[in-house]
Amino acid sequence: MNQIGERSCPICGNSQREIFFELSEIPAFCNLLWKERQAALNCTKGDIKLAFCHNCGFIDNVAFDSVKINYTEDYECSLDFSPRFQTNAQSLAEDLMARYQLQNKKIIEIGSGKGDFLVLLCQQNNNYGIGFDPTYVYRPEHDQYNVEFIQDYYSERHANYQSDLIICRHTLEHIPNPASFLKTLRCNIGNTFKPKIFFEEPKAQDTFNLQGNCVI
Ligand SMILES: [Zn+2]
Repeated sequence: MNQIGERSCPICGNSQREIFFELSEIPAFCNLLWKERQAALNCTKGDIKLAFCHNCGFIDNVAFDSVKINYTEDYECSLDFSPRFQTNAQSLAEDLMARYQLQNKKIIEIGSGKGDFLVLLCQQNNNYGIGFDPTYVYRPEHDQYNVEFIQDYYSERHANYQSDLIICRHTLEHIPNPASFLKTLRCNIGNTFKPKIFFEEPKAQDTFNLQGNCVI
């Protein structure tokens, strides 16, 4: 294991982190479908160099180069075609409905993808949803629901959007500086509104256990 000091932890600022996994020249995106084989072979590639912060537990890729990442409509990470995933999403939607009494409520989803989960929350109980995601693709059927989508990254430009609930599922781990993002969110909320906040993140240990069973 190597010690690194050149890039401090984006969460706690600790400059002494431990690199525990390295992989070179892999596709920068894993959720793009290429029309031709050669285009896939020529895709933008980058390195993975995972560092663990012993101070706060944060793990990130210190070789990450944001210039290589550009989320567009072509990015497809939706799993909503899977019956198993649908069951999970439905169950979570029902849980959120009950937990936060989602009726006549305004809901912001940051990283709403193609919009399926937000629609799930807003197709009943007269809720109104606003989704932020640069990869959103307009679908005419969305016009029948109380939802709107902003094809953009959520940022300080969107401070005028307020809601009763803010959800952010499997998105924070894609943001290079999560602490900075959370500060922006906190700043946007201000002190007048008091929305409920719901974040859902993958468990790193599960991912590493899966990797252990794969040939990479
Ligand atoms: Zn840290």
